[in-house]
Amino acid sequence: KEKARIMDERGISRAISRISHEIIEKNKGVDNVVIIGIRRRGVPLAERIARKVQEVEGRNLPLGVLDITLYRDDLSNIASQPVVHKTEIPFDITGKKVVLVDDVLFTGRTVRAALDALIDLGRPQMIQLAVLIDRGHRELPIRADYVGKNVPTSRNEVIKVKLREVDDEDCVVIYDR
Ligand code: 5GP
Ligand code: MG
Repeated sequence: KEKARIMDERGISRAISRISHEIIEKNKGVDNVVIIGIRRRGVPLAERIARKVQEVEGRNLPLGVLDITLYRDDLSNIASQPVVHKTEIPFDITGKKVVLVDDVLFTGRTVRAALDALIDLGRPQMIQLAVLIDRGHRELPIRADYVGKNVPTSRNEVIKVKLREVDDEDCVVIYDR
């Protein structure tokens, strides 16, 4: 059941805009910055950030994609296994400041797997994390550098992120499982 609508199209758009400005500010421009979206909805978010940065700075950020699935074991949460399926990163990340983008940050296991995959590919100068929603419940010492909205949730709630590129609209909704 839908419990609460926490972001609408304008809210998401403002969050993307703020995150883009924060990325530019923190990195003092976008020299050596590349952006990598985690499939599925991290990818359109990464594209939107890249478009905003292009508007503001007049620079095109190289954009890559990581495909990671988390196989959750219901008996033992510790056994949850992230599997990296595919990487489409058509540039060298060595020496780059990599901004990793995902829709929701929860336990941190997917991000950990993404960090492993990136470090296997090269030697980035730095890796930063941007998420649209931080819903809490971390199981690893991982935090985001850029957060659209912090949404304290209970474990039996789920966040639904809808993005135009994938879904029929832009919104973020909390559901009961
Ligand atoms: P974590 O690995 O941090 O536990 O979970 C993060 C990954 O699982 C993200 O890629 C995210 O897409 C997905 N995820 C975890 N919890 C939620 C949630 O409540 N809503 C959505 N939309 N995705 C979630
Ligand atoms: Mg995901």
